[in-house]
Amino acid sequence: MIAVCPRCDVGMFLLHFKEVEVDYCERCHGIWLDAGELDALLEDDNDPFVRLLDRSGAPSTAERCLCPRCDSKLHEFAVNHVTLDRCPRGHGLWFDGNELPQLLARSGDSHAVAFLNDIFGNKPTIKSEEPKP
Ligand SMILES: [Zn+2]
Ligand SMILES: [Zn+2]
Repeated sequence: MIAVCPRCDVGMFLLHFKEVEVDYCERCHGIWLDAGELDALLEDDNDPFVRLLDRSGAPSTAERCLCPRCDSKLHEFAVNHVTLDRCPRGHGLWFDGNELPQLLARSGDSHAVAFLNDIFGNKPTIKSEEPKP
């Protein structure tokens, strides 16, 4: 199933990073992270990034900002002055292309941030899904 970008309404690329799959929009450079991909990290209550994430959001004011998994309207919440969008049903997190670098630069020492830096610090290389032999 191809995930659709909440901003652009176009299909996203599935990228693989260290056993983790993320959906990447080539048009706006936004990234969707499924909840399961961050789950292990988000269980760490001592992580500064996780404490910032633990907030209830308000419905996003942006148009066409729907969860790629369930089409629910995403909820906005602020992390370190950067606005992220989260599925109210807990499917995952949306990072706009220009949000993530700001967020990572400001979030300091955090396992979750180190994980995200690992993924996004390097320019993602787009791989189309190839059938396995
Ligand atoms: Zn997009
Ligand atoms: Zn959802």
